[in-house]
Amino acid sequence: MQYWNPYLETLPRESLNQIELSYFRKISSYAKEHSRLYQDKLKGIEPERIRTFDDLKKIPLTEKEEMRKYQEMEPFPYGGLLARNIEEVTTFRQTSGTTGKPIYVPETYESWQWRTEVWCHILYMAGFRPRHRVFLPFGYNVYVAFWEAHFASEKVGCELVPGGALDTKGRIHKILEIRANGMMNTPTYGLHIAEEAKSLGIDPASLGIERMLCAGEPMPSATRKRLEELYHCHVFDHIGGTEPCAWAGMCEAKDGMHIIEPFFLVEVLDRETLQREVEEGEIGVAVVTPLGRRSFPLIRFNTKDLVIKGKNSCSCGRTSKKIQEVVGRTDDLRKVRGVLFSPKTVEEVLRKDFKEIEEFEIVVERRGLMDVILLRAEVNPSLTVSAIDQTKARLHENLKIATNLTFNVIMEPPGSLPRYTLKAKRFKDLREA
Ligand SMILES: [Zn+2]
Repeated sequence: MQYWNPYLETLPRESLNQIELSYFRKISSYAKEHSRLYQDKLKGIEPERIRTFDDLKKIPLTEKEEMRKYQEMEPFPYGGLLARNIEEVTTFRQTSGTTGKPIYVPETYESWQWRTEVWCHILYMAGFRPRHRVFLPFGYNVYVAFWEAHFASEKVGCELVPGGALDTKGRIHKILEIRANGMMNTPTYGLHIAEEAKSLGIDPASLGIERMLCAGEPMPSATRKRLEELYHCHVFDHIGGTEPCAWAGMCEAKDGMHIIEPFFLVEVLDRETLQREVEEGEIGVAVVTPLGRRSFPLIRFNTKDLVIKGKNSCSCGRTSKKIQEVVGRTDDLRKVRGVLFSPKTVEEVLRKDFKEIEEFEIVVERRGLMDVILLRAEVNPSLTVSAIDQTKARLHENLKIATNLTFNVIMEPPGSLPRYTLKAKRFKDLREA
């Protein structure tokens, strides 16, 4: 078994614990000194005195909502989240903003190198090597994930092929043309490429992909295995986010995901109190502290990711802690075709601009291999046929703008949708059924 960093990846558990606590003291002291957010949050707390994992509990969690507030300060656009001089910032990234105002993430050259190094661990663990020609079938835009993958691929020594400015058919032909043997994907898009290849008379297995690393949405193991069958390749998962970075990845044992230690201190806390570290096999909320990134420090960031805590050992010999599985989000968010989607956004659009709609229902389902999102809308009976058509067209357009998703809009006859008196169930995710 090979490691990207043989020393760090096989350190005894006790050494990892001590290193992480020591890094935690350093990054918290640094954050308190340099970031407005942590000047306020850590007031009255002496990070240097933290000695045990229980001591961490004295530090309040960092929530995304308060980050938005501090972002409004100077200097624009990072405000009180920035912990370096703004002139040192070399890279702008941001969150998708589907659930509210985006968080703008400043990276200095140093902090970007840190992120890239973390991603090297993820890629190497998933078996990516210099012999791989890796096709990346996305335009990366201002979002972080595939940029990290791009730079880390180069650092690991792979040959990276950016396939952004092509449609799916063009990408399939490019993979064949250049004989790519590695790929990164969202699970949904991986399935879609396979389906499209078949419609072109190409067996996805004949594309020659040996390794695929997936990102962007929780991947049930059935989907991972389906991708492996379709492409006859090895498929790996990882977990992370724009703010904390990717913090765990799957090794070749494919039995859960290794936390990238000692780059991160990860706590898995019980959902109700967010206080107690859960036991192996239990579900908890992942609370993540990146330990080496100083441009944008985050101390005990509440990822709102629900995960099952995994074993502390692995057949690969790595000594890091593991996450067995990602369960989903603590709130009602869903990923649809790789886009983070909140039913609340739809409700806001409808309540604000579509008074003629009396009731609605959102349904997400899987048709073939693609996610389909439907809006069933019931209009006021007084509307004429042409007015209904206009509403339908406007709905389609406004929802696309608000959510970045193309809705299949179905106008339903009056009185046909269920009515709710207490708690509405207007959102149905049939993919889980
Ligand atoms: Zn392992």
